Amino acid sequence: MEIKRRDFLKVAAGGGLMLAAGSQQADARASLERLPDALGILYDATVCIGCKACVSACKQNNEMPPDFSSPDNLWDNPLDLSSKTLNVIKLYQDGDASSKDQEAGGYSYVKRHCMHCVDPACVSACPVSALTKDPETGIVGYHKNACIGCRYCQIACPYNIPKFEWDDPFPQIRKCQLCDHRIAEGKYSACCEFCPTGASIFGRVEDLLLEAKKRLTYEPGTYQTYPIGTVDSTYSVERKVTPYLNHVYGEKEGGGTQYLVLANVPFEKLGLPKLRELPIAARSEGLHHTIYKGLIAPIVFLGGLLYVVHRNTKKDE
Ligand code: SF4
Ligand code: SF4
Ligand code: SF4
Repeated sequence: MEIKRRDFLKVAAGGGLMLAAGSQQADARASLERLPDALGILYDATVCIGCKACVSACKQNNEMPPDFSSPDNLWDNPLDLSSKTLNVIKLYQDGDASSKDQEAGGYSYVKRHCMHCVDPACVSACPVSALTKDPETGIVGYHKNACIGCRYCQIACPYNIPKFEWDDPFPQIRKCQLCDHRIAEGKYSACCEFCPTGASIFGRVEDLLLEAKKRLTYEPGTYQTYPIGTVDSTYSVERKVTPYLNHVYGEKEGGGTQYLVLANVPFEKLGLPKLRELPIAARSEGLHHTIYKGLIAPIVFLGGLLYVVHRNTKKDE
C-alpha cells in the first residue's frame, strides 16, 4: 500500500484549513498590566555622552568576560549585545554626523539591554519556566538550572535580546536581569549608579514615566534639573534642554516595558522596533490555545491520514 502524494496533500490541506479556521477565531488573551511596584530604568539619549561607563559597570557587577569585537583585539569593545555583553551603547549616525541628537546629518547614542517587558514574550515562549517575571518588581529573570537550551526565548523576543553561549560546553542564555542581585543587597542597577550624567536613572517605573513625561514638557534652551543615579536622587545636575521627540518609548510598545527611552532621533533608527500595543505573548498564546484546544488540529490530521491508509489498504485487498 502506498499513500499517494495527492492524498497526503489533501489531508495536510484539511489540517491547514483547521489551523486557519482556528486562527481566525483565536482571541488574544488579556494583556498583563504593569505592576504597581515595577522597577526599571529611564534612558535619555539626549543626556548620554557615550562614555560607556554603564557598559563597564555592567560587566564588572555581573562578572561578564571581555568581548573583543574590535579588530585589534586590544580591549573590551563590544559592538553589540552578546553572551559576554548584557548592555551596550550603540551609535546612530547620518551624513557627516556633525550634530548630536539630530536625525539628518547628526548622531545619537542608544543604550540597549533587556526591556523587562510588562508582558514578556520570552517568558511566554519558554516551555520550562526558565524565564520568569517577578510578581512584585516585574524583573524578567533567568534560571539556568531550569533551562534546556531550546532557545525559544531568542526567537520570541521582539528586541533580539537573549543571547546563547555557543562557545560554552554548558551553555546558558544571557541577558540583563536588572542587577537583581544588587537590588537584593539594597543597591540598584550598576549601569545607573555609574552613569556620570544621569542619562540612565533607576526607579519605580511609575516615577520614571512621570519624569519622562515631565522632560517632554521642557522648553528647549531652558535649564532644568536632571537627577543622577535614581529618579528620586538628591544628586542632580542642571543642564540645557535639547529637543525631544514627543514620545516615551516603552510606555505602550508591545504592551509596555520597564525600560523607557527618550530620544530626538526616531526610535526605529535607534534599533527600537515599532510594535503594536497588544503584547506578542497575548496574541500568540491566544492562537496556540485555540489551535491546540483539545488537540483539534493534530487529531484532524491524524484522522485524515488513518482514513487514507484504511482506504488504500482496502483497495489493495
Ligand atoms: S526584551 Fe526580550 S528578553 Fe527582555 S523581557 Fe522582553 S521579551 Fe524578554
Ligand atoms: S541593569 Fe545591571 S545587568 Fe542590566 S544593563 Fe544595567 S548593569 Fe547591566
Ligand atoms: S554611562 Fe551614562 S552617559 Fe555614559 S554611555 Fe552610559 S548611559 Fe551614556
